[in-house]
Amino acid sequence: MGLQNRIESLQRTLPAHHLDALLVSHPPNIRYLCGFTGSSGLLVVSEAKSVLFTDGRYTAQARQEVKNARVIVTRNTPILAGAAQWLSSKGADLGQRLVRVGIDGEHLSVAGEQKLRSTLPGRFRLRFAPPLVEQARMVKDAEEIARIRKAAELGAALFQTALSRIRPGVTETQLAGAMEFEARSAGADGMSFETIIAAGPRSALPHGRASRSPIPPSGFVVCDFGVILSGYCSDRTRTVFVGTPTAEARRAYAAVFEAQEAAVSAVRAGVKAGEVDRAARKILQEKGLARYFTHSTGHGVGLEIHEDPRVAKGEQEVLKAGMVITIEPGVYIPGEFGVRIEDMVVVTEQACEVLAPGNNELITI
Ligand code: ZN
Ligand code: ZN
Repeated sequence: MGLQNRIESLQRTLPAHHLDALLVSHPPNIRYLCGFTGSSGLLVVSEAKSVLFTDGRYTAQARQEVKNARVIVTRNTPILAGAAQWLSSKGADLGQRLVRVGIDGEHLSVAGEQKLRSTLPGRFRLRFAPPLVEQARMVKDAEEIARIRKAAELGAALFQTALSRIRPGVTETQLAGAMEFEARSAGADGMSFETIIAAGPRSALPHGRASRSPIPPSGFVVCDFGVILSGYCSDRTRTVFVGTPTAEARRAYAAVFEAQEAAVSAVRAGVKAGEVDRAARKILQEKGLARYFTHSTGHGVGLEIHEDPRVAKGEQEVLKAGMVITIEPGVYIPGEFGVRIEDMVVVTEQACEVLAPGNNELITI
């Protein structure tokens, strides 16, 4: 589906939500709908029109990137005021009737909402709109999947860089830095989140950002890393052991490995996201480790690193072909160690496809 169709299908859903226009303010949503990658933009979509508002810094960029919406460079600040003025002008073609304008309550600030209220005439009513664009973004089209696959492959290659450098005494930030240098050198737009390198007892922190701590002589090293390539994110976790793992460490790794495989096997169109979470949790329960699995099994990935659907306990969202989600169970034993294994998968009608598949057996260094 091209960009033109994305705006058109959004326009078709507006009447069902009793909206005459929608203000799209979240940059990834704007990028998804019209291709604009600037940081200052507001897309107004009515049933008949679509207009991107931006400021003078983005004149050339907006005209180059945006083909399916009119571009208006406004001198008003915030640009929201320019959009409000346009909405109430003849150009918007909304007539003199009552106009219901949907705003994105998750992303528009209170100050922005107040600005809209004070600029729009009385016949305009602001409504919190459901997350229509986020819902559309959940199912990726072929072009998006191709981009995500490339991002996943570049992301996966960074683990080779990590493997060649992990040894006692190397600091977590040195390791993260080497991976990030590799990513940028290979053409990544950036990292999709701050690289997590958590070694030894720090591996028990599920979100242990790389610190100045050196890798100890013995223990797990959790590496959770991702790139942004052509706008799309990757996300992957590998856990290796430096030294000789204890029986307890081996058991924990084997349990997470099995839980991750079970959850991947549970993925197919028509299954609720919560059932995938349950597949992972069930294995860890059997091994007596469920209480150490302290986060959800996964999340959607696309233009943003964390998107819908959530793959969490009790989650009712039904998976559809074309969704891209992570499967990342882990166990974290405070003060001792942690293990996580994460892959990205594309949901298909029958099962799922693991992106940049590799061997997830325990690697010892
Ligand atoms: Zn991750
Ligand atoms: Zn993740």
